[in-house]
Amino acid sequence: MLHYKTDEEVGLLRKSNLLVSRALAEVAGHIRPGVTTLYLDSIAETFIRDNNAIPAFKGYGGFPNSLCTSVNAEVVHGIPSDYVLKEGDIISIDCGVVLNGWYGDGAYTFAVGRISDELKRLLEYTRASLEEGVRAAVAGNRIGDISSAVQTMAESGGYSVVRELVGHGLGKKLHEAPEVPNFGKRGSGPKMKKGLVICIEPMINLGRKETVRLNDGWTIRTADGRPSAHFEYAVAVDKGRADVLTTFQFIEDVLNKM
Ligand code: MG
Ligand code: MG
Repeated sequence: MLHYKTDEEVGLLRKSNLLVSRALAEVAGHIRPGVTTLYLDSIAETFIRDNNAIPAFKGYGGFPNSLCTSVNAEVVHGIPSDYVLKEGDIISIDCGVVLNGWYGDGAYTFAVGRISDELKRLLEYTRASLEEGVRAAVAGNRIGDISSAVQTMAESGGYSVVRELVGHGLGKKLHEAPEVPNFGKRGSGPKMKKGLVICIEPMINLGRKETVRLNDGWTIRTADGRPSAHFEYAVAVDKGRADVLTTFQFIEDVLNKM
């Protein structure tokens, strides 16, 4: 069953997702060659707790940290470690918080120093596929309209869409119904109404779509070892136009100054 949020509840979810947006921007200021992913995790955890919230991922299903940090061929759910970022890497950072009992969940893929044109284009297309998904997240449309929009944009760039992991509803739980796949057919799936809050989160591979799970029990990596990107917004479905609860503006303000 789908939970539809009142305007007041959407307001609370906006606060949670703005905190995620600000936490990702805080982390953005520390991403450079030479830092470890565990250091970035500590920056996020301190920032979240200083803002009277709880890191949502820490302890979720036994996950050990506040961020998921997924480098290069890692798709999602990478565990922060003593891995030292190097020039030319890409790193997908996924951040979750609980604030006032409501969840925030968002992700952004960053360049470490200068990256290849091939990787820049992957990031551009992944971001564009997210924006296409958002355009389809309006009342009266179906979930499959989002899925199809994301898939069409990603595949138009020659990329492939991860199948094993999907977007989701968001509220007083991190993962609520419905599932929001990044592939599918227009006109399929549940019909959306105003007040449905969902995370749209394309995971797009430079090579083939298949993934493997590493022995740590968490990290999802591309099977062919080629890079993958991930961007995630929380959006409230509304009439005419989705209300995006996440913003990447804070991140971009930080990156533009670096
Ligand atoms: Mg996420
Ligand atoms: Mg999510």
